[in-house]
Parts: sequence; C-alpha cells; structure tokens
Amino acid sequence: MKGVVFLGDRECAVKEIPDPVPGDGEVVVRMMASGICGSDLHLLRGTTREGAVKRGDRIPGHEPSGVVAQVGPGVRQVRCGDRVSVFHYLGCGRCRWCAAGFLQWCSQTRGYGGIIDGAHADLILTDERNCIPLPEALSFGDGAFVACAGGTAYASLRKLALTPGETVAVFGLGPVGLSGVLLASALGCRPVGVDILPERLALAERTGAFAVVDASREDALSVLRRLTGGEGVPAGFEASGSAEGRKMLVDALGRGGRGVFVGAGSQEAVINPGDLIGRQLTLMGSFVISLGMAWEMVCFLAEQKISFDPIVTHRFPIEEAPAAYRLADTGRCGKALFVWE
Ligand SMILES: [Zn+2]
Ligand SMILES: [Zn+2]
Repeated sequence: MKGVVFLGDRECAVKEIPDPVPGDGEVVVRMMASGICGSDLHLLRGTTREGAVKRGDRIPGHEPSGVVAQVGPGVRQVRCGDRVSVFHYLGCGRCRWCAAGFLQWCSQTRGYGGIIDGAHADLILTDERNCIPLPEALSFGDGAFVACAGGTAYASLRKLALTPGETVAVFGLGPVGLSGVLLASALGCRPVGVDILPERLALAERTGAFAVVDASREDALSVLRRLTGGEGVPAGFEASGSAEGRKMLVDALGRGGRGVFVGAGSQEAVINPGDLIGRQLTLMGSFVISLGMAWEMVCFLAEQKISFDPIVTHRFPIEEAPAAYRLADTGRCGKALFVWE
C-alpha cells in the first residue's frame, strides 16, 4: 500500500509500505477519507531531520474513515464491506477507562500517527471495537470528522450544555473551531467566530456563524459584549491554543459563564483564579471524544442531517501528500482531506 512518512524540516513523502495483516480481533480498513489535523502539523513542523529518522517510517494521520476490507480471527460483529469511522486510540479493552470509552486514557493506549501507523495510507489496522458504524446518510468525509476534528468539537459543546438561542464565542477557526460553529448553529445557538485570518472568517460565515470578528482589526471583547447586551457571552470555546485566545475566552465570559479549552499549544499561564470568583465562571478542558460519545454523535449527525462538508475546502489523492501538507501548513484553508475513489 501507499503511505505518507515525514522526512523532517516540514517535508513528507509517499512510500510503498507492506499491507497490514489483521491478527486476533483486528480488522483492516480501506481508507475512503482521511483528514489532516492540526496535531499532524505539530509533528510535521516539530520533526527535525534527526527526529524524523528516529520516528522512522511511522505513518501520520488519525482521522480514518473507510470500508472494512479484511477481518482477523475472533472478529465477531464487524464484517467486510462495513462503512466505518475508526476511533483513533487503541486500548487494552479491559480496564476502567476502556470500559468508559476513554481509550485515550488506557495505560496501554496507542494513538494513530503517534506510536502506531496512522491513517494517511491506503489501509489501516485497527481493533474490532474501534469501528464505529457509519450510516448511509453520512459521507466518509463526515466519518473522518467524527474521528477527530468534529468529535473534539462535539464533546466540547456537550460539556458546555448549550441552550438553544445562547451565544457561544468560538476562538480559533481552524477545522475544530469551524466544527464547533457548525454544530452550535445546528443546535440552534448563536456561534460567534473569532480569528485573525480572513479565509477562516469567511469559512465560519459559510458554516453557520451568527457573526464573525476579525480580532486583528476589531476589539473582539467589545464586539462580543455588544452582541450580548453588555453582559458578556454565556459560553465560549477555545480552539486556537494561543495565549491570546485563552485569555480572551476568560475575559469574554459573562456572569455564570462556561468556557471550554480545546486547542493545544501555548505553555503560557494566562488564567488568574481571582478572575473566576466574582463572575462564578466554570472553565473546563476537553480532549478528543469518548468511544461511546462518538457512537452518539454519528446518530445525532444522521438524525439531524448534519454534514461537515462546508468545512472541507480541499481534497487530495494520497499521492499528492506533499502538496496537501504544504497547504495545510499555511493554515489558510478549511479541512484538507485525502480521498480515495
Ligand atoms: Zn486530531
Ligand atoms: Zn484499557
């Protein structure tokens, strides 16, 4: 099969790699759509040539969606031909965190594109339990969103417990932030997107934003206060990972406000606990999604007829991975997907 490998210095290549063989309880999924995520870019940017050599030929990518191509011995429910989104952490399957669906917290967790081969390849090896059935109503692209960007946004919005009509400020309009805008709009809320790149602000408008704010030209806090009658927003979602975005989220919240931090990045401490007391703020962190909630999300998308399509701006065959990564690295696009015919 073909698979992508990082070479260091922001370069990658497509290589011929042996096909995976399913062992006990494992299945091989033929990719139909596989997204490039911000976390892949951290690896692409972070690997020096030396680091890339150490990493070897590990395949990146953790937004897998496709069709089951082969099942190993002991696989009981999943069948060849099943359309699936693949949960992107493998776990032992027999501990409290696996039982709760948080395979990312299992002591034996293995993440795709991290310590095991990921989804930027024709085929991916996974466990039967990781295959989330994809209803016909959802595209393979939607399945890729469930695996990371969309799933991360869905789990975060569930934590915010939004009420229809509520204003929710979304800081950082990459694919996770845009997914938050799209889902919040589908829930009947008023998502306000905040970013500094005009391409991303335009995408947020297309994705259902009630309003957008260019924080490089306007004072985002005053705009958010104006949109909420001077109160400040009741809910906020931080997907930029920047110190500025995080600080802005805390400052933008009104009395009793809830905020969720999703974007990884800055190491700077920006939150002063004293700021939380008078306004009685609730601040939360969120990391990906649980396996059980991913099943719930797939039902929600199918029942509500929601698609992440408006966020997809580019589709590439896997052979064009270097061009796809170069584009994603600029940040001046929505979601870039690898797709197979
Ligand atoms: Zn991701
Ligand atoms: Zn476990």
